Amino acid sequence: MRSHYCTNLSEKDVGLEVEVCGWANSYRDHGGIVFIDLRDKTGLLQLVCDPEHNKSAHEVASNVRDEFVLRAKGKVRLRGEGLENPKLKTGKIEIIIDELIVENAARALPFVINDENVNEEIRLKYRYLDLRTPKAYETFKLRSKATVAVRNTLDELGFLEVETPVLTKATPEGARDYLVPSRVHNGEFYALPQSPQLFKQLLMCGGFDKYFQIAKCFRDEDLRADRQPEFTQIDVEMSFCTQEEVIKVTEKMLKNVFKACGFDINPPFEQMTYKHAMETYGSDKPDLRYGLEMVDVADIFSRSTNEIFSSIASDTKKNRIKALKVPNGDNIFSKRQMKGFEDYVRKFGAQGLGFFQMKEEGLKGPLVKFFSEEDLAEIVSRCELKTGDVVFFGAGKKSVVLDYMGRFRIYLAEQMNIIPQDEFRFVWVVDFEMFEVEEGKLKALHHPFTMPKDINADVEDMESIAYDIVLNGVELGGGSIRIHKKEIQEKVFKLLNISDEEANEKFGFLLDALELGAPPHGGIALGLDRLIMLLTNSKSIRDVIAFPKTQRATCPLTQAPSIVSNEQMRELGIRLREKTIKENR
Ligand code: ASP
Repeated sequence: MRSHYCTNLSEKDVGLEVEVCGWANSYRDHGGIVFIDLRDKTGLLQLVCDPEHNKSAHEVASNVRDEFVLRAKGKVRLRGEGLENPKLKTGKIEIIIDELIVENAARALPFVINDENVNEEIRLKYRYLDLRTPKAYETFKLRSKATVAVRNTLDELGFLEVETPVLTKATPEGARDYLVPSRVHNGEFYALPQSPQLFKQLLMCGGFDKYFQIAKCFRDEDLRADRQPEFTQIDVEMSFCTQEEVIKVTEKMLKNVFKACGFDINPPFEQMTYKHAMETYGSDKPDLRYGLEMVDVADIFSRSTNEIFSSIASDTKKNRIKALKVPNGDNIFSKRQMKGFEDYVRKFGAQGLGFFQMKEEGLKGPLVKFFSEEDLAEIVSRCELKTGDVVFFGAGKKSVVLDYMGRFRIYLAEQMNIIPQDEFRFVWVVDFEMFEVEEGKLKALHHPFTMPKDINADVEDMESIAYDIVLNGVELGGGSIRIHKKEIQEKVFKLLNISDEEANEKFGFLLDALELGAPPHGGIALGLDRLIMLLTNSKSIRDVIAFPKTQRATCPLTQAPSIVSNEQMRELGIRLREKTIKENR
């Protein structure tokens, strides 16, 4: 066994006999003396192999190359004057070596460890080399601390950790399923769970009134920067609870997780309705670290002499006209940049981007001529404009305007560099709509098991008892109070155009349970990977997953997914179409 990790030694240990183990991070031969920077998960330590001190250790050292695995015994001493390295934690000391053992040699590495310019595919192929850096170790240490804090907090609160199946039936979280063919039942498939949603509800029906799990979820989606086909959720469910109780448990857990990772956060967090978030920030996950709030000005524009604006403004149910003030924007941005803003919003469906500049003498800009003096004054007062400010306008269909103005808000904040980097700003978004329309079809905004506030309300206005927790503009997680009555569940299925047969085929087991004494219940799930990303300020979700997949859902390390033998395919009753085989090759 080693006696110390590299960076646990310091000048206090001078004279101590030690044994250290690790990898040769680098080596130098200086006038016959070999210096090796030994690296372990904690950092670097300098070993000195001097032939005058110990001939055989020096001989071994002469053959050491990068990434050889070493065990070294020797004595801690101070480095000579002027030879200290202030960049290293152990920069004041070195070990004069009495015995050096090469535990294993290493061939030339495919890339230099820690070189951030190396193509990611190669780094993932040799992921263990990537993991050898202290930075990677720190990330996974923090991840472990966070997970343990989740377990401890929920355990203290009386929650039971229960595992749910991975080979199961489809659960609808809105993505495509990963399927596993059955050998015993040829032609039939298991689905990997998109979340443990239905099982956790069934645990409530089983009388386990507080459940949690650090659960793997699988969703076959087109991967975006912060998505992975398999990811981890902190999954929680409780019986006989209110929304506020779920929120309280989550806040307590987050408080302890952040504390375990060295941060102090102060729940209770602010709550905001979905409607307010959409209307003011153009997003259901608003970043509240900066202002740039949108103001509704449709009523003022309805009185303008510009027909396009006045007609858009006349239908406040379908359309929106939103103003976004940039304080001092006139001095911050050039004409050219302002033109660039228009190009930016056009990418997201904007027809254009109007603006006013607040000059000493009043509002200026191409739109001024369409407004009366009073209405210009109203714009100034409603947007609280001061000299030098610029105010931009988005006008058009509600969903389009809210979307591009929301994106524009973030884009502006980035351009203006006003986003505080060392702040954790949480917000609960509550009172979600029950449904959304996607490609002409009604879809559950959360999932179809979410309890509506009033099942008899109009479909467009129906709200659900659902809540999301948002941190710095990132959705950390979400949950809801669930439907625990069969009639309501059936009504929701009907509204979603799920026939009785389909409902029975897919969710018959749930409908059964709802008839056999299902308690009221609700819960939440938080994305652990995203949480760790935010805690470690990582740019990619792949940095916080030990063995992640690429954006094309492949694993360069194991080469998964891969072709399987004909024998295996035959057992599964599967034959590939000729075309598929060719396409795959
Ligand atoms: N199952 C949901 C999800 O994965 C979370 C929840 O409702 O608890 O998004």
